Amino acid sequence: MLDFAKQAEEIHGTANTEMKKVSLEPAEFELVNFTCYAEAFKKLESISKEKMKSSLITSVQPGRKLVMQSVPTCPVALSFKIRCQDCNQMFADISQYQKHVSHDGKHKQMMNQFFGKAEKAHSHDQPGIRRTLGLYTHILESSKKNQTPVGVPLVVTCFSTHVQEHIYVCFACEDCFTESSLKQHFDSRKHLIHTLLYLNPWRLPFAWKYHLGIEVLRSLALEEEKERGPKQMMMKVLDIPYEMFLPIPSTFVEVLKRLELQHTLLKREG
Ligand SMILES: [Zn+2]
Ligand SMILES: [Zn+2]
Repeated sequence: MLDFAKQAEEIHGTANTEMKKVSLEPAEFELVNFTCYAEAFKKLESISKEKMKSSLITSVQPGRKLVMQSVPTCPVALSFKIRCQDCNQMFADISQYQKHVSHDGKHKQMMNQFFGKAEKAHSHDQPGIRRTLGLYTHILESSKKNQTPVGVPLVVTCFSTHVQEHIYVCFACEDCFTESSLKQHFDSRKHLIHTLLYLNPWRLPFAWKYHLGIEVLRSLALEEEKERGPKQMMMKVLDIPYEMFLPIPSTFVEVLKRLELQHTLLKREG
């Protein structure tokens, strides 16, 4: 529906929207009864025909038709970059990020700098448990179904190299969830509305609270993200030392408390 409205807007924008104009002498102006539309139009039409030999009535020509367009899917998913919050550095894809975490001395150095003692207790030299990021997989899969998740840069994936479970911290909803709730969170009305409220509340039309469907909310948020440019196509990841990550915090407040000295890492944008 939104796509059709956009097409209509484009056609209207490029169409010849020239206005019809009738110049009147003061005496002619006096003769027109502007208090009645029908009478005024009749008089103006006769003056126009007499003076300019043209009619005020426009004949409507059928123009370009509105057509159903398929939205390209995969390029959207593939353009998502991974951002290492520990190092303030972007990576083009997941394999580059994984290489960085495992082998880049800078990452280890940054972990030492920001987490101090906690990091030293558990060295990066030991092999990690898992290397996949659930949110990345979710983005790829959802994009194939034309349901690209919105508000991804507002969510920070927190993990520890030696722990199976990841947690996701959503700054739009001020919420924290695990991988099993990933899809549910991104598809929820709450997340879509909070993302729009966070990015640009003016996108929400009058009476949005009860009447807008999930797909409309998602389209509005996607539109906003598209306008904000490629910076929106980014997934933030924070590597946390084992000792600080466990036991895994279960609420947003708990995460903020656990990482009270590392808030800059959670929130930094680049
Ligand atoms: Zn790093
Ligand atoms: Zn959320």
